[in-house]
Amino acid sequence: MPPIARVEPLTTTRALRGPFDYRLPAALADVGVGTMLRVPFAGRELLGVVVERTTQTDVPDEKLAEPHGRVEPAIPAELVELARWIAVEYCSTVSRALQLVLPPGAGRAARPRVRVREVLVAEATDAGRAVVADGAPERLTERQRAVLERLAADGPLPATQTGADHGGLRRLAGRGLLVLEPRAQRRRPLVQAVGARSPHAPALTREQRAALEPILAALDALAAGAPGAEPAARRFLLHGVTGSGKTEVYLQAAAAALAAGRSVLVLVPEIALAPQTVARFQARFGDTVAVLHSQLGQGERYDEWLQLASGEARIAVGPRSAVFAPLAQLGLAIVDEEHEPAYKHEGDPRYDARRVAAYRARQAGAVLLVGSATPRPESVHALRRIRLTQRVDGRPLPPVEVLDMRDARHPLHPTTREALGDVRRAERKAIVLVNRRGWSNFLSCRHCGHVWDCPQCDVALVLHQRESAIACHHCGHRERIPAACVACGSASVARHGAGTERIETELADALGDPDFPILRLDADTARAGKGAVARTLERFDQAAAGVLVGTQMVAKGHDFPDVTLGVVLDADQTLRFPDFRAEERTFALVAQLAGRAGRGGEGSGRVLVQTLSPEAPSIAAAAKHDADGFLAGELERRRALAYPPFASLIRVTCSAQELGDATAAAEAVRERISGRAGAESVVLGPAPLFRVRGRERSQLVVKAVRRRAAVASVAAAVDAVARTAVGRRVQLSADVDPQ
Ligand code: ADP
Ligand code: ZN
Ligand code: ZN
Repeated sequence: MPPIARVEPLTTTRALRGPFDYRLPAALADVGVGTMLRVPFAGRELLGVVVERTTQTDVPDEKLAEPHGRVEPAIPAELVELARWIAVEYCSTVSRALQLVLPPGAGRAARPRVRVREVLVAEATDAGRAVVADGAPERLTERQRAVLERLAADGPLPATQTGADHGGLRRLAGRGLLVLEPRAQRRRPLVQAVGARSPHAPALTREQRAALEPILAALDALAAGAPGAEPAARRFLLHGVTGSGKTEVYLQAAAAALAAGRSVLVLVPEIALAPQTVARFQARFGDTVAVLHSQLGQGERYDEWLQLASGEARIAVGPRSAVFAPLAQLGLAIVDEEHEPAYKHEGDPRYDARRVAAYRARQAGAVLLVGSATPRPESVHALRRIRLTQRVDGRPLPPVEVLDMRDARHPLHPTTREALGDVRRAERKAIVLVNRRGWSNFLSCRHCGHVWDCPQCDVALVLHQRESAIACHHCGHRERIPAACVACGSASVARHGAGTERIETELADALGDPDFPILRLDADTARAGKGAVARTLERFDQAAAGVLVGTQMVAKGHDFPDVTLGVVLDADQTLRFPDFRAEERTFALVAQLAGRAGRGGEGSGRVLVQTLSPEAPSIAAAAKHDADGFLAGELERRRALAYPPFASLIRVTCSAQELGDATAAAEAVRERISGRAGAESVVLGPAPLFRVRGRERSQLVVKAVRRRAAVASVAAAVDAVARTAVGRRVQLSADVDPQ
């Protein structure tokens, strides 16, 4: 029997399902799981990944083809296994899931084009080190001795960093005291470090020490080769208020994992918004850290990938896609700010990086450590919770005032205007959060009531004053700001609501000082080019005083020591979404913003929450900093309504030119699921969804107690319906654990 490789071709078509068998010639005898092969397929050549090796095949010998060759580097076998799990878990295909774990640059072209930059590196020879060590009687100038000393102490250095010019180095090389040679240099991605920290670990607070203890115990058990039978004992939730020093706990846990000979995965929601966390890992662990993120060039990403795959770097830091880092011997998986929706991927496969990280930890017998000031009820329910209740600086959390906006005539409450005035007079800083970008939410005609909607989507167009346009936030459709009503011709057009752009102007007005800096941070200003977000954050950090205004971006994990005022405008905006996470999101938003105020400086800061629903439980709990009360109530509500974590949700969306087709497809899916997804499952819908990009939509939601059975039956139903007559006119997608 010849050796056979089962190969999954890398294509995105759902119709083509591998794996396919190929006979391995002698030259490819060592091919294993994860090897990438160029294979003949239906008259073409495709790139494929070996998912299994075997000697059995049903393909008759004369039809068995041989691969054309291999493509380096191979994917670690563990990641192939991970991809197969993702394909099932998220109703996708193995081929699509494999695209997630490929080395950067592979997959599209047959081979990643790597250009390695070479630099001239100087290294002291034995003779050179001896000269330095015992002050041997070589005749050296002071400058030459200093160069040799540095090379002896710091190891090889790029020629430009030795302190000598090329001529000087060549003379020393000629005397056999150092060698000069060109070497490939790693393209080190630079992450702008806002407020970079010292590389040394501070002494931990008592709470931090207590938090670290069970984590270190679990890591010790791993190192001793006795991880214990119960994986649940190795899964931790670090629930610590903002500023309680969670990152320091991550850093020391990571150091322990490295010391145990294991590698570390660190996930952050978004690199641009987490430069401090990344910088702290780099400052502490140096070249052991590889940073993976989408803003890197392909070559840089490939370099970082190789550093990890070869074991030269042992800590991978990055956003959700970094969960696929080729780390061998994983010992610790960290998920920072675990409540962030950014961990959910919105393309097929619709994976959740938090769940994937948990799977990788289980696969490798590693410790899982997720952290947040506002953890998800799911995590509170499933993980061992460790608390950090105090800020490191010993300050209390700032008092939060809820401002009732039901009778307000102006987007800024009088108390807010007053507080802003205080900030200006005292030359302090404020952060103002508005949940919507643009100028105003929608336009209407004062005469006939006409509302300007997107022609492609059932949503109102948002006014963007600076671009003189009204725009759709779903499809990008744009028109000029109307001078008159298209329906009745009236020139009286009302602007409703306030977005970041308008608030920026209102703030300038309230502050009454054109020299007081106001910086805006939202998806529009972020588009101003690579690094725009980091630059804005850096400018705010460096400024002596000022206001940072923006969307949720301003409430993410930054640590600015001198913010004395935090304001949330329109705090209930998230509550108005018909979504079971609305309460959770609102609580997190207010609590996270509150956490930005009152760090350092005198006074504990002040937080103002403007809202139309002052009694909403999430807002009331956040104002009291009552995470426990909120989580207990939320878990109770979810249990009563059978929402996660007490059931899994699967959403099936059908979109088509005609609403009738979308609904018919959803009906057909529903019929096939009913009864097969486990008796405890409930199928809700079909319900119409608002139109997007000219496509009508209909959706089903499955609430499943038996997750595996339900996912399998939804996957089978979607595949079957996609092949029917109506299914061919409809785009079907299944989303497990929708956000
Ligand atoms: P969190 O992630 O919980 O919001 P951080 O880890 O960012 O908190 O810590 C808040 C601040 O306190 C940071 O500036 C950090 O450097 C500092 N810090 C953390 N732990 C200690 C410690 N044990 N001693 C002194 N400073 C600390
Ligand atoms: Zn009109
Ligand atoms: Zn649109």
